[in-house]
Amino acid sequence: MDYVNSLLDLIGNTPLLRLSTSLDGLGDTGDAEGGPGAGPIVLAKVEYLNPGGSVKDRIATRMIEAAEASGELQPGGTIVEPTSGNTGVGLAMVAQAKGYHCVFVCPDKVSEDKRNVLKAYGAEVVVCPTAVPPEHPDAYYNVSDRLAAEPGAWKPDQYSNPHNPRSHYETTGPEIWAQTEGRITHFVCGVGTGGTISGVGRYLKEQNPAVQVVGADPAGSVYSGGSGRPYLVEGVGEDFWPDTYDRDVADRIIEVSDADSFAYTRRLAREEALLVGGSSGMAAYAAKQLAEELAGTPEGKDAVIVVLLPDSGRGYLTKVFNDEWLGQYGFVSGSGDETVRTVGE
Ligand code: PMP
Repeated sequence: MDYVNSLLDLIGNTPLLRLSTSLDGLGDTGDAEGGPGAGPIVLAKVEYLNPGGSVKDRIATRMIEAAEASGELQPGGTIVEPTSGNTGVGLAMVAQAKGYHCVFVCPDKVSEDKRNVLKAYGAEVVVCPTAVPPEHPDAYYNVSDRLAAEPGAWKPDQYSNPHNPRSHYETTGPEIWAQTEGRITHFVCGVGTGGTISGVGRYLKEQNPAVQVVGADPAGSVYSGGSGRPYLVEGVGEDFWPDTYDRDVADRIIEVSDADSFAYTRRLAREEALLVGGSSGMAAYAAKQLAEELAGTPEGKDAVIVVLLPDSGRGYLTKVFNDEWLGQYGFVSGSGDETVRTVGE
C-alpha cells in the first residue's frame, strides 16, 4: 500500500508547471519537452500543493524540529507567534501533528476567516486592538512578547530564525535543482522575510554560480529602494530589513506595482488554471518580464526561469478575485468580461 503515516511527510516535493498562454506566446517554440534551445521557458513551483496550502509549511516544520532538538520547545509546550497568515497555518498544522499548543497574536484588522482557519487546527487566537500606541500593554507585539515569556512557551520568530532560510536551502533549492536537471538559469520569487530567496538562492548559486537570483518586490517596499509605503499585495515587501534576508544573494530586484500583480494573478487563474495569491501573480509577472528581456537573445534560448508561487488564491476571494474590491482601488481584473449573471433579473 502506498501511504504516509504523518501529514508532515507530505510537505515539499511540489511540482513544476510550465507556464504557457499567460506568457503571450513568449518562448512558445512548440517544444513541449522544453529541451535545450527551447527557451526562454518559465516553470512555476506550485507551493499551494503543500498540505497547509503554502510554502510556509516548510519553515514551520524546520523551525519546530530545530527547537525540539535544542530543547527550546519541550513536549507539551506552547508555540507563540505574532502572525495570522501562512506561517500561522503551517505552525498550527505542525503543532497539531506533534501535540503542541499554539497561540497566535494578531491585530483586530485581520479577517475573521483567517482567524477561523487557525482555530480550526486547534490553535488559540488572541486579538489585539490596532488603535493603541505601540508602548501600550495591549499592543500586538507587547502581548506576544508577554505570552512568549511564559513558562513552556517558545516563539519561532520567522523574521530572525535562521531555520527559515535553512529550510529552503535544504529542501526547496535542491528540489528545483533536481527537477530542472541543473538547467535552471534564473530563479524568481517574492521577498517577505527573505527566507525563500536567501535559502534557495544560496543553494542554487553553490551548484552553479551563474544562476541569476531575482527578487520580485511591491513598489514601495525596502527591497526595491522604498521606505515601506503601503501596497496591497500581501505577504511580500517590508518596511525594515529582516535578519533572515541575505543581502548578498539577489542579483537583481524587479519592482512590480499592485495593479500589475493583481491583473497577472487574475490571468494565471483564467489562462493557466492556477488559482494563486497576489504575491504569486507579482512574482510570475516579474518572471514574464525577465522572459521578455531574454527572448531573442542567444542567452534566452537556453534560459530556464523558475518562479516560486507561495500560496493559493482561496485566501483572497474577497480581495484579488473580487472585481468590486479591485475597482475600489482603481484596478481592473485583467479580463473585462462579465463573469456573473444573475438568473431571473
Ligand atoms: N508570499 C506570501 C503569500 C507569503 O505569505 C510570504 C511569506 N511572508 C511570501 C510570499 C514571502 O516569502 P519569504 O518570507 O520567504 O520571503
